[in-house]
Amino acid sequence: MSEACKTPISFEFSAPKTEAAFSSLRRAYSRLSRFQHEFISVTYGAGGSTRDGTKHAVTALSSEGFTVAPHLSFGGDDEATIAGLLEDYQAAGIKQLVALRGDRQSGQGSAKMVHAAELVEFIRARTDDWFTIHVAAYPEIHPESISVATEIEFFKQKVDAGADCAITQYFFNVDAYQQFLAECHKAGITTPIVPGIMPITNLAGLQRFSSICGADLPRWLTKRLETLDGDDVAVKDFGCEVVTRLCERLIEAGAPGLHFYTLNQSKPSARILENLGY
Ligand code: FAD
Repeated sequence: MSEACKTPISFEFSAPKTEAAFSSLRRAYSRLSRFQHEFISVTYGAGGSTRDGTKHAVTALSSEGFTVAPHLSFGGDDEATIAGLLEDYQAAGIKQLVALRGDRQSGQGSAKMVHAAELVEFIRARTDDWFTIHVAAYPEIHPESISVATEIEFFKQKVDAGADCAITQYFFNVDAYQQFLAECHKAGITTPIVPGIMPITNLAGLQRFSSICGADLPRWLTKRLETLDGDDVAVKDFGCEVVTRLCERLIEAGAPGLHFYTLNQSKPSARILENLGY
């Protein structure tokens, strides 16, 4: 891409559990902040395990004037705890949230979890239009979904409950994204659906993540990465080239934004953004 790229971008960071981890997040963010971006988001550990770490990080970053969106789920918490958190975020001037059901914590078994649509409803009932609410979307279908039809139906419930936009699970197949957009359009969903972008830096990590979250790793990609395995530089170069091309195709397809899963590292996302002309 030659001319400066104008598609809005955002960055996601994993919630820090220690002060050292928070310092490392800050360092990564300070290196990425040179790229004009809409907001950064900070994850919420499975089952609410990073409730305090997420709150500490986002309130500190927000007090410095950065636009921050904490991720939030009910986890194992009651309504009073979540309402308290929403009040704290309002008091800190935070205006965006990523509302999720959340992942199960290990050992949590099959305990019932509060669906994201119910959380969106709860947030709207408590705080009206204060927050811009992002929710998750799955072009390759969420691993627990029974069918494409229910995937779209339950996604629509989140939108109808008051979500303003969606961020997708990462994927490497543009057709899956376009097919999902078409299905959403047919269901009357007009909310922007921003692709989540996972930089490729290491095959084993990518395989582990992908098997958990249900992202499809195409055979051609796995085979190339296997060939390069052991050569870190070659894996990163190839990964950067593949993800740059994916972003180019998404921008050409009219994606309303790109949301980078940074995993608290600056370099992989920065290289892709430079390639794209940001
Ligand atoms: P939901 O929208 O509630 O859907 C979960 C599943 O239940 C889907 O299969 C859906 O089809 C089904 N479903 C929905 N409603 C109903 C219903 N009424 N009846 C029956 N089935 C239903 N996880 C974390 O723990 N912390 C994070 O910070 C985090 N950040 C994320 C950010 C993004 C952008 C994305 C894409 C994912 C993130 N995740 C995070 C992972 C996410 O929590 C998991 O994918 C989780 O399994 C589903 O969350 P959800 O909000 O999509 O859930």
